[in-house]
Amino acid sequence: ALILGIESSCDDTGVAVVSASGRVLGESLASQADIHAAWGGVVPKLAQEAHEAAIDGCVEAALAAAGVRPEQLDAVAVTIGPGLSLCLRVGVLKARQLAAAHRLPLIPVHHMEAHALVARLGATRFAAEAAAAEQQQQQGVQQQQQQQGVQAQQQPAASTAALGAASDAVQAAAEAAADAAVEFPFLCLLISGGHNLLLLVEGIGQYTQLGTTLDDALGEAYDKVARLLGLELKPSGGAALEAFAREGDPRALPFSVPMQRRPTCDFSYAGLKTAVRLAIEEQAPEATDANRQLRADIAASFQRVAVAHLEERCRRAVGWVQESHPQVRHLVVAGGVASNQYIRGRLTAIADAAGLRLVCPPPRLCTDNGVMVAWAGMERYQLGLVEPPPASAQVADGEWLDLRPRWPLTDRKDPRSFTAP
Ligand code: ATP
Ligand code: FE
Repeated sequence: ALILGIESSCDDTGVAVVSASGRVLGESLASQADIHAAWGGVVPKLAQEAHEAAIDGCVEAALAAAGVRPEQLDAVAVTIGPGLSLCLRVGVLKARQLAAAHRLPLIPVHHMEAHALVARLGATRFAAEAAAAEQQQQQGVQQQQQQQGVQAQQQPAASTAALGAASDAVQAAAEAAADAAVEFPFLCLLISGGHNLLLLVEGIGQYTQLGTTLDDALGEAYDKVARLLGLELKPSGGAALEAFAREGDPRALPFSVPMQRRPTCDFSYAGLKTAVRLAIEEQAPEATDANRQLRADIAASFQRVAVAHLEERCRRAVGWVQESHPQVRHLVVAGGVASNQYIRGRLTAIADAAGLRLVCPPPRLCTDNGVMVAWAGMERYQLGLVEPPPASAQVADGEWLDLRPRWPLTDRKDPRSFTAP
């Protein structure tokens, strides 16, 4: 099967075509970072206009890169929420137009489900790539043997050993693939611009919330601090802050880790954000060259404490699921903030200590993209979770366009998350 996925919930227009085996046949992404950097945040009306300007070209580019004609597709997947309704609308109308023109089923996708499920594509695909590389290596050995035919006849034992080593490598790659493949159930930390969720994922649409943020999401906090520090918000506030923090001393400022006495898996970043804002207002109200080191120290200290909070919550969540679901083998970390290398390193240590494997999609699949929507669509398509093709691209009078700007991923909460403070 071939699925085309469209993402337009916030400030990236993303389109991709994926196959059932998780191969990305073609993809295209138009980022609006430059537009919004000037305003210090996403301006919905400008975002909508940018999506409208980009969407047709993105769809064409993804199809062209894939070498696929729209009538060869099996379905069109599209993010219908959560996100900015002005933006969601652009993607949904385009998906509807494609689906109506080519009689294709539509697959409505939850943006956060797409962030989570792309980890399952990553593991399959990258393991497959590793196996293919090994196979090439093996063919290389065979060619070498043909070229050195005479010599090989003289030394049959040595050539056999070389071949044996190569097939061992293929075997090892296959085993690594099986090990890395993220199967249900798994533990999932979603960290992005609008969400901070710890989930037990037992299947498509089967999510139990272990924890969420009581105020801000981590990506939002990174963006806010980046702005207060006067950084250029490109490619995003979070990425800029991560880079800047490398210049600083993470122990320079004594910010305290949020909610340490609450034995839940919930998060809170508002207090830390305020503490950082006060420190900046007192010590470095203007960004200058002279206070660059101090600002880098603040960035590094913020990051250390913000991530210490993540670590503490993840350690608890791991404990919870290992007790109730001992078959869990993976900790998936996804969403835009999961592209942060410091966070990946810190969470690897937690997964290792618990005997779990940490899986983070490659950074370009952590931030918003079309691949994750196409893949979430593929997972739903394989379960028959599709909607019939719309009769027409136009939305008839009185017809309701299904957009869900606010759309909780699940209403199922783990009872342990209600532990009193
Ligand atoms: P949501 O997915 O919750 O709807 P979103 O789609 O706007 O929100 P994503 O695109 O998933 O968010 O992620 C963007 C967020 O990730 C931004 O807040 C950005 O600052 C943050 N981010 C990106 N790269 C990094 C990084 N290296 N370190 C920290 N944060 C980062
Ligand atoms: Fe996102």
